[in-house]
Amino acid sequence: MQADPPARSLAPPGPDVRVALPLLSRSHTTWADSPCLPPTAPAYIRDARRLIDAHGRTIRDLRISVTDRCNFRCVYCMEPDVKFARREDLLTPDEIVRISRIAESLGIRKVRLTGGEPTLHPELTRIIGGIRSEAGVELALITNGSRLTRASLREWRIAGLARVTISIDTLRPERFAAITRSNGRVDDVLAGADACLTEGLAPLKLNAVLVRHVNDDEAADLASLAPQLGVAMRFIEYMPLDSGRAWDVRKWVSAAETKSAIERRFRLVSADDDDPASTSRTFRFAHLPTDSPARVGFIAPVSNPFCGACSRLRVTADGKVRPCLFSTTEWDMRTLLRNGAADRFIADFLIDAVWSKQSGHNIATPAFARPMRPMSAIGG
Ligand code: SAM
Ligand code: SF4
Repeated sequence: MQADPPARSLAPPGPDVRVALPLLSRSHTTWADSPCLPPTAPAYIRDARRLIDAHGRTIRDLRISVTDRCNFRCVYCMEPDVKFARREDLLTPDEIVRISRIAESLGIRKVRLTGGEPTLHPELTRIIGGIRSEAGVELALITNGSRLTRASLREWRIAGLARVTISIDTLRPERFAAITRSNGRVDDVLAGADACLTEGLAPLKLNAVLVRHVNDDEAADLASLAPQLGVAMRFIEYMPLDSGRAWDVRKWVSAAETKSAIERRFRLVSADDDDPASTSRTFRFAHLPTDSPARVGFIAPVSNPFCGACSRLRVTADGKVRPCLFSTTEWDMRTLLRNGAADRFIADFLIDAVWSKQSGHNIATPAFARPMRPMSAIGG
C-alpha cells in the first residue's frame, strides 16, 4: 500500500484566501490522525482545474454522506453501540451545496447522497434542491428504503433527484429484523421500491450484501426481484468496513459464488452496457428481451478490485475528504469551509486531495490496512 503523503507546509495563502492559519494547523481529525491539508498537486494539474489523480484517473463521481445517523444497525455495517459525530460537526445543508457546486466546477458529473441513512436528514429536500440549482450534476440517493413514501419521493424528484438505490438484503421478515437489528419491515422497503418506480425515479437499483450463514441462501430469491420489478439487483461483496470490526473471510461470500447460485435458477448473459468506470459487472436475463431493465450486477471489491477505473471521491458527514473508501488518510475540508476559505482555495484543496488518491486498496493482501472509519461514517 502506498505510504500516506506527508503534510503540506502551510505556505502563505494566495490573495483570495481568508483562512485562519492557527485554526488550520491544530486541526486533526478525530478518527484518523492525519494532517488537514493534502500535499500540493503539481502546477499543471492545478491549472487544469480538473480532479485527476497521480495514477491518471479522472474523478467524476462524488459521494456525500449527509448524516452518519441511521435507523438500522445492519450486522455488516453498524454496531448497536456505534458512536456518532457531534451534531455541530456534521456538514450543514449550505456546506453540502457549496461543496457540490465547487466539485462540479472541477468536472464532477454525479453526486450521490448517502449516509448513514440520508432520509433521516430533516432538510434533505433543501439539500437536493440546493445542489440542483447550483450544480448541473446528476443527483442520486442511496437509502435503506424504510422511510420512502410517494409524497417524499415526489418532493425530492421535483427538487431535482434523478435516481435512487435501495438496499435490501433479505425478503424474509424475521431475517430482515435480525439483519437490520431494527423493527423495520421488508414490506416497507418493497413498497418504497414500488413508489420510486411509480414516481418515475428509474432506472432503480437495489443493493444486497450477502454474509455467510446470514443470508447467503437468498441470492436467487433476491435476484428474482429484478425481473419482478424491472430493476437492477446488485450484489456487493462484504467488505471489512463494519463498525464492529467483525469482518472475517469466513463470513465473506464471493461474487463468483453468488453468480453461480443465481445461475442455478436463471440463465444470465453479459449485458455489455457497463460504463468502464462502473464498479459493477452487469448481466441480463436470457429469457427476457434485451430492452428489459431487469439486470443483475456484481460489485466485487474484495475478489476483483476495480481500483484501476475508480472515478470516485467521498466526503464524510463531518466534512472530511476521503479519496478512497479504504483511505487511512482523510483531509479536513470542514475547517476550511468554516474559516472563510474562498471557493478557489477549496477547489485547490480538492484537486490536491484527489492527486493524493492511493492507487488501490490491497484488500485481499496481507498489506491491507483497515480504515478507522466504518462504512456508515464514510458514506457507502
Ligand atoms: N443507509 C443507506 C443504505 O443502507 O443503503 C446508505 C448508506 S450504506 C453505508 C450504503 C451501502 O453500503 C449499502 O448498500 C450497504 O449495503 C453498503 N455497506 C455497508 N457496510 C458494508 C460492508 N461492510 N460491506 C459492503 N457493503 C456495505
Ligand atoms: Fe444503516 Fe445503511 Fe449501514 Fe444498514 S447499511 S446500518 S441502513 S447505514
